[in-house]
Amino acid sequence: LLRAVGVRKSYGHTEVLKGIDLDVHKGQVVCLLGPSGAGKSTFLRCLNHLETIDGGQVWVDGEPIGFRLRGGKLYELREKDVARQRRDIGMVFQRFNLFAHRTVLENVVEGPVRVLGVEPGKARAEALELLERVGLAERGDAYPAQLSGGQQQRVAIARSLAMKPKLMLFDEPTSALDPELVGEVLEVMRTLAQEGMTMVVVTHEMAFAAEAADEVVFLADGAVVETGPPGKVLKEPEHERTRQFLARVL
Ligand code: ATP
Ligand code: MG
Repeated sequence: LLRAVGVRKSYGHTEVLKGIDLDVHKGQVVCLLGPSGAGKSTFLRCLNHLETIDGGQVWVDGEPIGFRLRGGKLYELREKDVARQRRDIGMVFQRFNLFAHRTVLENVVEGPVRVLGVEPGKARAEALELLERVGLAERGDAYPAQLSGGQQQRVAIARSLAMKPKLMLFDEPTSALDPELVGEVLEVMRTLAQEGMTMVVVTHEMAFAAEAADEVVFLADGAVVETGPPGKVLKEPEHERTRQFLARVL
């Protein structure tokens, strides 16, 4: 479903991503681990073209992200067309970025109605279902500021799902939360994974990676150091760099 090939990205003279490959099949969960500055967030942003890449390609469901394939050649897409591609790729950040002046329900309904043109009544019914799934059926009329961080992050997940993405990207979704609120968000993500959502998750939650990931990718200094099933990479890493990292976080 997702294929990244040789993704490169530089800021000025600094090469932050040095040719990253990643394959994610439909329904798979891949966790990206790595020290601060490894390029994890940059890579996620490259996957949905929030960053233009300097080399390589990203394909989602057979489409080159940011480009159109015609006669065997790739042509850069206009921003409007990139936005259309991006709808298929949900993204949840460390900070929840909900609309503060809108209720929880309005936050979830907004995208489908305005962007997808879903009829408001239908969008509302679907939004209520999503809020139920993330355990917030009762809080639709609340404003974001009235919710805990964990609840807000669950709304952010529901809002992303409302766009019916093919793929979900998570960038440290629990690292801004108080420890006691981490579990409820991971629980929603675990359920999502079990329901077959394709997910790429940057996280420092090793227990989540161990249990929910089909594949773990360890990044350092803008390159993939090693990759494999969690039982292998987390328990018997082959590289010294991975061992050092795990020794610090576990
Ligand atoms: P963390 O775990 O701290 O979130 P990360 O693995 O997500 O780290 P990135 O945020 O992708 O790392 O950053 C990778 C490198 O790119 C860092 O050295 C960072 O300083 C640099 N970088 C990121 N964004 C920019 C930018 N907009 N301009 C210049 N340098 C940047
Ligand atoms: Mg980051």
